[in-house]
Amino acid sequence: MKLKRLFSGVQIGNLELKNRIVMLSMQLGYAEGGFATPPFIRFYEERAKGGAGLLIVGGAHIHPHGTGGVNFLAVDDDRYIPDLRKLTEAIRTAGAKSCLQLLHSGRYAFSILTGEQPVSASEVASPLSGEVPRALSVEEIKDMVGLFTDGARRAREAGFDAVEICGSTGYLVSQFLSPFTNRRTDAYGGSLEGRTRFAVEIVRSIKQALGEDYPVVFRLSFDDYVEGGTGLDETRSIAGTLEEAGVDLLDMQVGWHEAKVPTSAMLVPRAAFAYLAAEIRKEVAVPVVVTNRINDPLLAEELLQDGVADLIGMARALIADPELPNKARTGRLDEIAPCIACNQGCMDGVFMGRPVSCLVNPAAGREARFEIHPAKKPGKVMVIGAGPAGMEAARVLALRGHEVILVEREEELGGQLTLCGTARDRAEFKSLLRYLIHEVRRLDIRILTGTEAGEESVLAHRPDVVIIATGARQDLPELPGTGKPHVYTAASVLRGEADLRGRVAIIGGGHIGCEVALYAAQRGAMPPDVARFLVLHGALDPEQALAYMRRTRPVTIIEQRKKIAAYYGRTSRFGILQGLRSRGVTLMTGTKCVEICDGGVVLEKANGRETLEADTVVITSGYVEEGALYKRLEGKVAELHIIGDAKKLKSCQQAVWDAAELARNI
Ligand code: SF4
Repeated sequence: MKLKRLFSGVQIGNLELKNRIVMLSMQLGYAEGGFATPPFIRFYEERAKGGAGLLIVGGAHIHPHGTGGVNFLAVDDDRYIPDLRKLTEAIRTAGAKSCLQLLHSGRYAFSILTGEQPVSASEVASPLSGEVPRALSVEEIKDMVGLFTDGARRAREAGFDAVEICGSTGYLVSQFLSPFTNRRTDAYGGSLEGRTRFAVEIVRSIKQALGEDYPVVFRLSFDDYVEGGTGLDETRSIAGTLEEAGVDLLDMQVGWHEAKVPTSAMLVPRAAFAYLAAEIRKEVAVPVVVTNRINDPLLAEELLQDGVADLIGMARALIADPELPNKARTGRLDEIAPCIACNQGCMDGVFMGRPVSCLVNPAAGREARFEIHPAKKPGKVMVIGAGPAGMEAARVLALRGHEVILVEREEELGGQLTLCGTARDRAEFKSLLRYLIHEVRRLDIRILTGTEAGEESVLAHRPDVVIIATGARQDLPELPGTGKPHVYTAASVLRGEADLRGRVAIIGGGHIGCEVALYAAQRGAMPPDVARFLVLHGALDPEQALAYMRRTRPVTIIEQRKKIAAYYGRTSRFGILQGLRSRGVTLMTGTKCVEICDGGVVLEKANGRETLEADTVVITSGYVEEGALYKRLEGKVAELHIIGDAKKLKSCQQAVWDAAELARNI
């Protein structure tokens, strides 16, 4: 498919964009003290060089009591302008346009950060902090309109080509729009007109102050997915009202941070909410941006061609690969490092007060330090093990000009990554696997699969450097009954070699345990495409189809610790738990399996022992570091390293990062 529409120009008010890819705002945590720091500027410069048409930076808080987190950008004072100007100059020089998002977090602010009680439309507690905000007085609302306008003025002075008002995701402006958080009875509450008044006044005030020509973007949620909140019908009207007020572009997004509907996790199908953009586009003449889980340029083109929206919003996809637009434009689609919607580096980082990073792109946020330079002394490097750490190391080493030999014991590349993504809800892991395999094959790397690396065979190659990336192996725990025929390892299940029958008990609730649980539950359910076919042809009504899709086999995860998927961060764990719940998986925490018997497992809990009936038992615990070859090679090669799980069991992200860092320094 030719990406003609994606790479055609588009007009936002008076602003002309070279293509229809918009990097959406995302908190990064790089803005120390609220300033656009050098890493912050470099981050956006790379995305501008990568070919995006418009970069929406921020949100930048318009008052300190509206900040949403640690090291978020600020525009509440003129002192921020000089650094913001450096940022816009870098973006402009790299060929893109810039827009600053103006933000007030309202009840999503944390008094522990701001030193003040959060403010909102009404006194409705924030589930993020548990704090009850103070309702703004009418006078304060007028002041707030002034603060947004001041922020816009500073943005223009700093050289931004446009400003965006954050009126979505549960932040202050959306707290006024939503009947859930706006319980006011004055002119700023009650009817939809009243609830929209604050947003309209901000738009008009900015237009009045900066001129009708200065483009104003409005970020709006299609649906809050909060009970009693704003749904699509109201959003249609709000969109029209905002257009009348002077908005030049509607940047449509979905769901608040407190929504129970997953909107960004891996289990969300790509472009799942795009149909909502088409609904809004019917209501307005101004262009509409569609977003959420669009990481594929072909899909983006299809959405544009189908008239779903005018522009495509991407944030995480451009964190994972800043060069996505240029690679797409020049037909190098297979070279795009895909955002797999894991949220481990980015969203988890934001919610934990850490700078944003990326599982797939170790350079995100540290572009200067992670630049790839040619090796000072290119040599022969053997990488043993072609899991994610080994392949990332090989990729970077090859890019730096080393002669690389990548050795893998199995016939296929990927290591533990081959086990991820078997469950439909986790399928994005397969795209990471495809990308890494494509890269190591594309680059000049000698790949030896089905090859057991031993001391002699390694030394026979006379390598200058050896990197052990042999990953982990599973040692089955000493548990009575592990040899029974209905007991399987995680690998045998995920490779489709196990005879999954009836009720499934999974021992271990780490990430592999969750993958197995999702896969096992899914195996008993009607696939979505079959359900769709049967409904479309009248063989089932939608209710019946839904029931069949939910008819999963009974699956129970047994975990000794207090939490399932314990090492995941807040947002990635939320996605996994939502997936497990939606498939009806039972979660037993604080529970130890002490025996596997015929027809069940004996469990030890705080209040005693019990037997859980099970026809299939899967052991997903007992992974240990596989670092024996490292010990055998110690002192026998000039330079020896060990990385990833072979060194210490850790997350996939950490393994990839270790590899990326090491490979840049050899
Ligand atoms: Fe995407 Fe995961 Fe990277 Fe976030 S950490 S940008 S979700 S690949």
